[in-house]
Amino acid sequence: MTRYSAYVCQDWLESPPSWLTVYDPSTDEAVGEIAELQPTVVDAAASSAAAAQRSWSRVPPAKRAEILTRTADLIDERAEEFVDLLAREGGRPQHEARGEVAKGSTTFRYYGGLVGALDGRAFEGGQEALRHETRHEPVGVVAAVTPWNVPIASPARKLAPALLAGNAVLLKPATATPISAHLMVRALYDAGLPDGVVQLLTGPGGSLGRAVCIHPSVGAVSFTGSTEVGLGIQQALAERTTKVQLELGGKNAAVVLPGADLERSADAVVAAAFASAGQQCTATSRLIAHQDVAQSMVSLVGKRIDKLTLGACTDPQTTMGPLIDDQQVTRVDGYVQRAVAEGAGIVRGGHRLERPGNFYAPTVVADVGPGFELAREEVFGPVLAVLTTDTAEAAAELVNDTSYGLSCAVHTRDLAEAHQFVSRVDCGVVAVNGATAGVELSAPFGGFKDSGTTSSKEHGPESMDFYTRTKLVSWRW
Ligand code: NAP
Ligand code: MG
Repeated sequence: MTRYSAYVCQDWLESPPSWLTVYDPSTDEAVGEIAELQPTVVDAAASSAAAAQRSWSRVPPAKRAEILTRTADLIDERAEEFVDLLAREGGRPQHEARGEVAKGSTTFRYYGGLVGALDGRAFEGGQEALRHETRHEPVGVVAAVTPWNVPIASPARKLAPALLAGNAVLLKPATATPISAHLMVRALYDAGLPDGVVQLLTGPGGSLGRAVCIHPSVGAVSFTGSTEVGLGIQQALAERTTKVQLELGGKNAAVVLPGADLERSADAVVAAAFASAGQQCTATSRLIAHQDVAQSMVSLVGKRIDKLTLGACTDPQTTMGPLIDDQQVTRVDGYVQRAVAEGAGIVRGGHRLERPGNFYAPTVVADVGPGFELAREEVFGPVLAVLTTDTAEAAAELVNDTSYGLSCAVHTRDLAEAHQFVSRVDCGVVAVNGATAGVELSAPFGGFKDSGTTSSKEHGPESMDFYTRTKLVSWRW
């Protein structure tokens, strides 16, 4: 079986303390083995990264950018290998894996073209012979901790801006899908990244991941994952000035109002609810339909679900994959069955599939009340809860009626109604006549409330703010 090493200090570590097997959740077959590191490795990795960062920060930004662009080219050249391994370790259908790998190379190319985002500002002072200047310096060593569901997109959107800014990165990818991160770090070094600037630390989050985040040499932690783990990291760092960026869970709603193009709305809802089998932070997990269109929407959504083909990730016919593990299938089913016990009705699905792999049928649950657990908690599976409402205003209130505030959508042809909705919702991302998922790389992304820290964004030039610190220089003569 192929072994995928970690990168520690100055080189790939060929003999780690132990190896962990990574499985394809669509077939239960082994994909490869990944190094399992102990938290004791973090001290050496962090000081090596700090030393490498001092030289890296002196490399002119345009040269750093060239390495990012070369990395993008290498990901494209190696796309077949990336797609194959990403698909198998996550159980993702081929078209999804292809899309995510393309997003990975696009991310490195985008930040490779964004050197100007590091420019400071020069301006006159309030007295004679006084001039000010701002410099955007790297933070130093960044800890990047990423979730299993976006194993290329999440590491890429942290690594690319962090490296452009001149930081070193300790990358701790998720244990379920670490091979994609291995391939990405290989591409970075093959593209000419100096030794030690990125350390790939694979192993359990609770011990190794935590040790990475709380290491005193780390100047900034960018974490994407569950709200519970994210808030735990923030709490552990409460007495330090370490920058913390949290991209957390969601309970995203799509609102459909009378007059909306229902076919288009149903396309957007189904795409965002069932892509990655609902395992996306921006997945549509609530459909809030006005009572005049609710029945039509449920029927249009159902027709689209009937066309989904569940299967192994290697089968090109597959359009929906499995859940990441068996425990998650049980968890998702628990949410559905408790909603039924609370009085909801199953319109589609509502059961696991008896076949190899961790499959759960694409599910629509109707008559979900606003107080139901299924209306409030993140399920992270292929389950769409349908709630009905009688006004646009009440729909916006329902959108806000969870602790999360990541993404939402409104489908309407009424401009005033759309404007009012946008102002009323407490979400970091709002799509008008679009899907809750699939935000463009050039657009700043991040949630409100329990969905994340609002002090910084990922994607776009805004991402550079997190990976830099601003120094003010005042010149007198
Ligand atoms: P998770 O369990 O919170 O894990 C995320 C990462 O943190 C993994 O690398 C994990 O390592 C590590 N980790 C676990 N415990 C840790 C600790 N105590 N200290 C430091 N690191 C720790 O999340 P997940 O199950 O992988 O991902 C699903 C969640 O991510 C969902 O809630 C989803 O909404 C969210 N998500 C958010 C976004 C966004 O941008 N807002 C994007 C994608 C996903 P192990 O894998 O070894 O446990
Ligand atoms: Mg987890």
